[in-house]
Amino acid sequence: MARLCEICHREKAVLKRPKTLQSICRPCFYQVFETEIHHTITKNRLFQPGDRVAIGASGGKDSTVLAYVLKTLNERYQYGLHLFLLSIDEGITGYRDDSLETVKRNQLQYDLPLKIVSYEELYAWTMDAIVREVGLKNNCTFCGVFRRQALDRGAMLLGATHIVTGHNADDIAETVLMNLLRGDVARLQRCTEIATPGEDGCVPRSKPFKYTYEKEIVMYAYFKKLDYFSTECIYSPNAYRGYARAFLKDLESIRPSSIIDIIHSGEAFQVRRGVKMPTQGFCSRCGYISSNPLCKACVLLEGLNRGLPKLGVSRAGLQQLDPQLGPAADPNSPPTTAAKEYPSSSDPSAAAAVRTGKSLDW
Ligand code: SF4
Repeated sequence: MARLCEICHREKAVLKRPKTLQSICRPCFYQVFETEIHHTITKNRLFQPGDRVAIGASGGKDSTVLAYVLKTLNERYQYGLHLFLLSIDEGITGYRDDSLETVKRNQLQYDLPLKIVSYEELYAWTMDAIVREVGLKNNCTFCGVFRRQALDRGAMLLGATHIVTGHNADDIAETVLMNLLRGDVARLQRCTEIATPGEDGCVPRSKPFKYTYEKEIVMYAYFKKLDYFSTECIYSPNAYRGYARAFLKDLESIRPSSIIDIIHSGEAFQVRRGVKMPTQGFCSRCGYISSNPLCKACVLLEGLNRGLPKLGVSRAGLQQLDPQLGPAADPNSPPTTAAKEYPSSSDPSAAAAVRTGKSLDW
């Protein structure tokens, strides 16, 4: 005899819910999946009516489901939000160009305005060019740092009052593990925050999928037949996160609650008194928030533009870099191919445009 759904006790159960291992029917899965996200949004007061919300859209499963669910909940519960899709084009041929085609289809399918900003226009560098300079070891450091700022700049261009990203519970649990293993106290304390407030002129950010399991996002996208892009980035070595992910998946297979338990452990983490924490200020060159005189993006660009890409990623390289120096070329370095332009702190509008957001991965 067919097993009945453990929630409604009427319909046939067609799936086992990864988060709770309950056997449930499809309509009940949709209901619990969407309702949990709604509760996360309302309990944490993520939005205000009238907010202009930029959805970080990569074309992948997380951001595609986020756009679909947010649009659904906005209409169902009348949040009163103006939703936009915001995509970052890192300039990765054969990957991002294809995934952006998916976002363009999503724009039509969900009837949401779309804005695309590229690394090329913001930094005069594409990831293809950066990989040619730095190889496949530190490429994600460049990409992650530039993406954080690019998302903020795009949000400013849209006049957004809020940015949402598709980080899911697995991503956050992985980040907790990685920060714990690296002993990165400052990030460990921050990485479980569901929202970062809009202080110092920053655009507030939030992660409505903080408690949503990756497997359930995939399941939801599959059953709803959502149009998303599932190919991995061609420059995706990120071995450290890969190990943390594999470890987390092993734990999840034994005990599904491990993911939420790790997040709760991260939330309960408190920094011992006397531990020195970085103080937030602003980059003296571009005006973006930074705990150093130059923000990480300006340091990385400095290295790229001097033809010394390791400058921004190695400790020795950072010591070489005088943070007060302008973008003039190092006389000992090979000539750069072009003068790369980026916002200067002497340009108040550019500085204001980047003075947004917190250090969170997309
Ligand atoms: Fe960028 Fe690395 Fe992600 Fe590729 S895998 S999009 S290079 S951060």
